[in-house]
Order: sequence, then structure tokens, then C-alpha cells
Amino acid sequence: MLDLTGKNALVTGIANNRSIAWGIAQQLHAAGANLGVTYLPDDKGKFEKKVRDLVEPLNPSLFLPCNVQNDAQVDEVFAAVKEKWGKVDILIHCLAFANRDDLTGDFSNTSRQGYQTALDISAYSLVTLAKGAKDLMTDGGSIVTLTYLGGVRVVPNYNVMGIAKAALEMNVKYLASELGPQQIRVNGISAGPIRTLASSAVGGILDMIHHVEEVAPLRRTVTQQEVGNAAAFLCSDLSSGVTGQILYVDAGYEIMGM
Ligand code: NAD
Repeated sequence: MLDLTGKNALVTGIANNRSIAWGIAQQLHAAGANLGVTYLPDDKGKFEKKVRDLVEPLNPSLFLPCNVQNDAQVDEVFAAVKEKWGKVDILIHCLAFANRDDLTGDFSNTSRQGYQTALDISAYSLVTLAKGAKDLMTDGGSIVTLTYLGGVRVVPNYNVMGIAKAALEMNVKYLASELGPQQIRVNGISAGPIRTLASSAVGGILDMIHHVEEVAPLRRTVTQQEVGNAAAFLCSDLSSGVTGQILYVDAGYEIMGM
């Protein structure tokens, strides 16, 4: 039985009801976890209201701004977690960003700034969030991030985000090795293509989804809830022997050669 009762789970990356992080938050809540939610703040506060309204039915006991490029804000998140919860058991890293211009056309056109931004937000952020969480994971814990096949193979238009995902997947292994002695497990989920705000920036995303629907063994792509179920598994004791792994939740697409 998958039971997360009594577990404190910090979930990043909810933007709207299409977000993969929203699918994960729903499944963690259904399994009994106590949620804390972070959102990307904007000047007008529109994002905050949208996310707050969405997550309200899940009764998060923490709701905090967190731009992962802002070290002070990341520190404030973990200070608030420490004060309110004392410890954290689960960290969901479910965020990424690259300039839209860098997600179409020739990869060799990627600017230095675009490269740095994509790597900073999409890969380094796991390191900085894991650093904040590890001292609060006093009973061990589980860290789960989201990656994509474009980090291990060439996918048209994915470009610099593929480089960021490659870095992210190695972050998973180095963090798993470092944090294992503290019984903190670190894993990634490589999800099939799903229509979301972030994926809409990738050139030809609808063609990618249609291709997966034709070719994947299950003849479809996956849902946010299916990714959420896999995340709940990776956060639960049912996966207690699993760390440093990338779990493909992609309707089987990854196994296909032709
Ligand atoms: P999404 O747009 O719903 O989520 C992306 C999140 O990143 C948003 O909540 C946004 O606020 C957040 N974000 C961006 N910049 C940030 C910053 N500086 N600080 C804090 N948060 C920031 O899209 P999604 O598809 O749910 O993406 C979630 C994760 O899943 C990403 O890592 C993405 O690469 C990965 N993923 C998506 C797909 C897909 O097809 N949608 C497939 C595999 C993996």
C-alpha cells in the first residue's frame, strides 16, 4: 500500500492545471502527504494568485515564492520549512526554462546567455534545492526530478534543453551517491511529451506527441497523473531500494529503435 501519511513534501514547479508538478502534487496529497508548494513569483502577483487558487483544495501548509535563480529566496524557503515543519521528507524538483529562441532551429545558434540560463534554471537548481533540503531530511528522504529523452538522445528542437537534461541526469547520480549514506534517495522521471506551458515553447511539440502516439508500445503518450503516480512510488517506501535512477514514464517509447 502506497502510504505517505506523516510525510512532508515540498513541491516546486506548479504553474497551472496542466503542470506535471500539479499531477504529482495531487497524487502525493491522495497518498496522505502534507504539502508545501512553491511558485515562481512575478511582479504583478498574477502567478501567485493562479497557483494559490489551484492548490487550495490540497490544503498546503506552506505556500512560498521561489525563483531558483534567487539564492536568498531559496534560503528563505528552507528557513520557512524548518520553522514550520522541522523536517522535510520529499522534494519534488519539477521546473525548467530555456529561451524560446533556443528551442527551435539550429543548436549551434545557442547564445552563451541562453546556454547559461537553461543550465542554471533547469539543472543547477536541483543542486541548490538538494543542498537546502538535505539538512532537513533528518529521517532520510526522497528527491525526485523530471527529465526527458532529449537529455540522452537528439530530439529535433529540444536543443539546449537536452544539454540541461543531460546535466540534470548526472546531477541525480552525483547527489544520489553523496546523500545515500543519509538515506536520502535521488531519482529522476523521464516523462513522455505532455502539453504544458513549458513544452509549448519547444518547436513542433504537437508533432512530437503525435509521433509518440503512433510509435510508442502503448500507442499513446502519458498523463500528468501517470507521472504523479510514478513520483508517489519513488517518494514512498515501496521504492526504498532505488536511488540514482531514471525511470521512464513514456508509454514505452524509449525502448523503440525504429
Ligand atoms: P510547466 O510550464 O507547467 O512547469 C515548468 C515550471 O518551471 C513552471 O511552474 C515555472 O514556474 C517553473 N520555473 C521556470 N523558471 C523558474 C525559476 N527561475 N524558478 C522557479 N521555477 C521556475 O511545464 P512542465 O512540462 O510541467 O514542466 C515540468 C518539468 O517536467 C520540467 O523539468 C520539464 O522539462 C519536465 N518535462 C516535461 C515534459 C513535457 O512534455 N511537458 C516531458 C518531460 C519532462
